[in-house]
Amino acid sequence: MGYPFIEIDLEKITANAHLLVNMCNAHNIQIVGVAKAVCADIDVAKAMLAGGVPMLGDSRVQNLRRLRMAGIDVPLLLLRIPMPSEVDEVVQIANCSLVSELSTIRQLSQAAIKVGVIHDVILMVDMGDLREGIMPQKILPLVQQILLLSGVRLQGLGANFACYSGKIPTSGILKRLVALTQQVRDVFALALPIISGGNSAAIDLLMTSGIPAGITQLRIGEGILLGRETLKRNPIPGAYQNPLILHTEIVEVQEKPSVPSGEIAQDAFGNIPVFIDRGIRKRAIAAIGRQDVEIDHLTPIVPGIDILGGSSDHLILDVSDAAEDIAVGSEVCFYLQYGALAHAMVSPYVSRVYKTRNF
Ligand SMILES: *Cc1c(COP(=O)(O)O)cnc(C)c1O
Repeated sequence: MGYPFIEIDLEKITANAHLLVNMCNAHNIQIVGVAKAVCADIDVAKAMLAGGVPMLGDSRVQNLRRLRMAGIDVPLLLLRIPMPSEVDEVVQIANCSLVSELSTIRQLSQAAIKVGVIHDVILMVDMGDLREGIMPQKILPLVQQILLLSGVRLQGLGANFACYSGKIPTSGILKRLVALTQQVRDVFALALPIISGGNSAAIDLLMTSGIPAGITQLRIGEGILLGRETLKRNPIPGAYQNPLILHTEIVEVQEKPSVPSGEIAQDAFGNIPVFIDRGIRKRAIAAIGRQDVEIDHLTPIVPGIDILGGSSDHLILDVSDAAEDIAVGSEVCFYLQYGALAHAMVSPYVSRVYKTRNF
């Protein structure tokens, strides 16, 4: 396998999934395993299922289609509110969608009637993150309209947190979501079995028993993949933080000054870099760059290696204090934060190597 590659430890992903499934089960919450950060990698999805995840979700219909085509038969949830232009595909591939726009829900309804399916929808409510979702005061009139449509079945309400504005899901805000759902149930005499209370940003609440009764679903990606809650990126006790590791190869090691000579203009990405003079340093170049990965969201595994910067195809490291000898041809490995992972998994230049497998 050529460099660079991401080594994926499937057993660790299964173990993380299992841990989170158990944590959620203790609170009567179902997990939707979210595979979008790994581009719905089939083996990663199967590893999540092996850990007991009952349902998978992704933002992109293409990814859900790939899961279905691979023979995965659990219910699939479309996380990004659908594009009007994709409703025909959505109702054929996804079992359920998160929705917020009446016009799109009407189109989903027509598409579902056309192919003779019932498409489940969860109405997203904006609880403060200011990404998708309707404002709470608009829920009742919208539900009234949805109930007039056949082909779609309203299964509940949902909310998202900490994605766009970093809005923290608190016990109080989730209680409000439960109360809003209860109001809809009462007004329209509906069962509404699902209250979808958010993403990995809710794991902190889960660990401190702060999730109010009534929340029935969490949509978890990063918590399973990287073993962290996402408000402060604290490790989840008992979870692995390293199921995914980036391996790169060193193509140059040279002693160089730490500050460039002469005048500085823009770098390849339009930024004007700033340098600290640390004298002559031993620098290494790894053959990977900003085109493949968000280099600021990598953490070198070997102590003493610093990331200095990079360009499209080069990652520049200070290896003067590296705990291991770094030479041309050496392998240097990195932990990936969410942004780096999501980015690297779509790069055609980054391969995938699967480590252990128990399914
Ligand atoms: C991405 C996404 C998730 C999963 O987020 P994580 O932070 O990876 O757990 C959940 N819900 C929605 C709507 C999303 O877009």
